[in-house]
Parts: sequence; structure tokens; C-alpha cells
Amino acid sequence: MATGMSRFSDLATELEALRSDGRLRSLVPRRLDAASIQDSGGHRLINFGSNDYLGYATERVTTASVAIGSSASALVTGWSEHHQRLCVELADFESTEAAVLFPSGYAACSGTIATLAREGDLILSDSLNHASLIDGCRLSPAQRIIYPHRDVEFVQSTLRDNRHRFARVWILTESVFSMDGDVAPLVELCEVAEKFGAEMMVDEAHATGVLGPTGSGVCEALDIRHRVAVRIGTLSKAIGSQGGFVVADQVVIDYLVNRCRTLIYSTSLAPIIVDVAAERIREIRTSTARRDALARRIAQFHERHGSHLPQFLIPIIPIVIGECHDALAASTRLRDAGLFVPAIRPPTVPPGTARLRVSLSAHHTAEDVSRLADALGWVSHRMLANGSTLP
Ligand code: PMP
Repeated sequence: MATGMSRFSDLATELEALRSDGRLRSLVPRRLDAASIQDSGGHRLINFGSNDYLGYATERVTTASVAIGSSASALVTGWSEHHQRLCVELADFESTEAAVLFPSGYAACSGTIATLAREGDLILSDSLNHASLIDGCRLSPAQRIIYPHRDVEFVQSTLRDNRHRFARVWILTESVFSMDGDVAPLVELCEVAEKFGAEMMVDEAHATGVLGPTGSGVCEALDIRHRVAVRIGTLSKAIGSQGGFVVADQVVIDYLVNRCRTLIYSTSLAPIIVDVAAERIREIRTSTARRDALARRIAQFHERHGSHLPQFLIPIIPIVIGECHDALAASTRLRDAGLFVPAIRPPTVPPGTARLRVSLSAHHTAEDVSRLADALGWVSHRMLANGSTLP
């Protein structure tokens, strides 16, 4: 019998090609503890790689009275009073009629687009949208046009020329872009959507819990929540739990419950996860302490770099390097300096834009951020000296 190696030699060849391009990935066991991370070699590093923006994810919980498993999908026996209560609270938090939970943010994004964008519809999707949104487009029978990143003019002219050909048009964007840390021009997109009778669908994965007066996201900060038909969020980043959610009019939520395969055919979230998420959302709504701590760290980082404070203080800071090997080398140098900053490579980001992605957290101290700023300056200096393409 052929060995696994020879039976799957085509896969092995592809992996080898990834390795030589500096694009091979592997699973590395790491232990997270507050703002630090311990790798398998026992090295303790300051963690600038997680999406735990408010520092909730590593906190221990004592909600042991709640069941661990949900036992089935939501429409069978997997929907409990915990799920129901969180949805009521989410709808209130997000100022909408209704909410529904998904097993992950990925399932929420991919399933919602695939379900709501139907035959005869058009999806206008930002070129830097996350894989979960891209996969939703691929699963949908609607036509899709990718528009250049944040290009409202392109969206407007496409709608002007093509709106009449489609039953419904969806404008699909992240609010805070996960790998670039920039913000979509949501007010302008809403204006164009309203002018041409299109619908907005916004993924707030990296903004939920972080931005807006009560932490609901960029749509709240811009006071446009009522103008965005469908908003998607995740419980797995700033909320520090797990799972995804969609908030929209009741009829949209009812439609998803009846038609959305990633919601219907997967075991629902564990009640313990749901309760923890609900607790955190309550805390985020009533206290700005963690958001304020995070904002201080972000402001400190920008001040150190002499850059203007942006309109929104976003905890994601990309340092675009270019080639994969250079990004990996920069990440390794930072690790040697006691800092974990992941190298993000294609296909997560476009070819030629491999980067370091810094994520700040309320857990970081002023000293952590100073060390990061010092080390980044040092790394860029060294890499430029080596003929690298650091900007
Ligand atoms: N949307 C965006 C923009 C994301 O960055 C991610 C996660 N990286 C998701 C959706 C998926 O969320 P989750 O991790 O909860 O599946």
C-alpha cells in the first residue's frame, strides 16, 4: 500500500512550495495569560497578537452552574433561556428589533450573506473584506462585484449603471478592517445606498466592544445603526468569549432562522459561553474603564510614532513589510526582544503586503507599549540596513 507521503505527494509538494515562499503555517501550542504569551519553548513574551482588545479572554470564570454543552443545534434542543436572554440583550445593546447567535463569527458572516443575498441580487464587496465575508459571497447565488478598498465613488457609479438589473443590492463591508486597522467610509456608503435603494451589511467584528459611546461599534459611533440593515458581530474578540451574532429587523432574523445553513446545521453555542458573553456585554455597556485603558495605550503608541491621533482609536496597527520572509524575520527579531507580534502573510493579506500586525489590549501597560515602540524602531532600522523593503 502506498504511504501517506506518496499518496498525497501533490499535497506535500504544495506545502513545500509554501515553505520556500515563507508562507507555510503550522499550529503552535501557546499559553495565554493576561497580556503575555508563553510559547512551547517556555519563553514568556508580551502578547501583541490577540484580538482580546479589552483583556477579557484570559480571565477565569466561575459560572460553573451553567451546562457546558448545548447538546444540539438551535432548532432542535440547543436553544436555551441563556441564548434567548443574550439575544434580547444584544438587540437592546445594538438598538435593533432582533438578534440571533451563530457558532462563530465566521459562520455568522458566511451564512448570513449566503442566505440573504439571493438569486437576482448583487453584492458589492470591499476588496479587503475578511475571508468569512468572501466565503459568504462565494456561497451566495447573487452576482458579486469587488470594489477597490473604501472606494465610494466606484460603488456609486456601479449602482448608477447597474442598479436596475438587480432585485436587491447589498453593500458589504467590515467597519474596522481586520488586517489594516482602517475604517470603512460608512456614512458615505449609507448615503449612496439610500440614493440607489441598496442595503448595507456591515461586519463589526473588530469594533464590537471597542468603539461607540456604549461599545456597540462604529455604526453607533457614527449614529448610523438605523441605516444599516444587517450588522454582524463576534463574541470572540473584544467580548473575550466565543461565537457570532447578527442584529437586524425581526423579519430578517426570522428568515435566517429558517434558511441560514450555518445557523441551522451546527450545534449551538455552549450556554456557559453565552452567559460569559452576556456578562461582558453588560459590563461594557455600563463601564468605560477597559475601553478607556485601551484608548490610552493606542494614543500612547501613536504619540510615540509622532502620528496624528486618528478619528477612531483602533487597536490594530499594521506595519506593512512586503515579502513574507522579511515579515517572518521581523517577527522573529521581536520575539528575541520578548515581544510576540505575528507576521501576517498572503492569502490573509494581498501578495507583496506581508506585515506585522500589532494588536493592543487594555491589558497592556504603558511600559509594554514603550517596549514595543522601541523594538519596532530597532527592527525597521535593522531591516532597512539589510536592504529590506520596509516602508
Ligand atoms: N469578521 C472579521 C472581520 C474577522 O476578522 C473575523 C475573525 N478573524 C471574523 C469575522 C470571524 O469571527 P470569529 O473568529 O468569531 O469566527
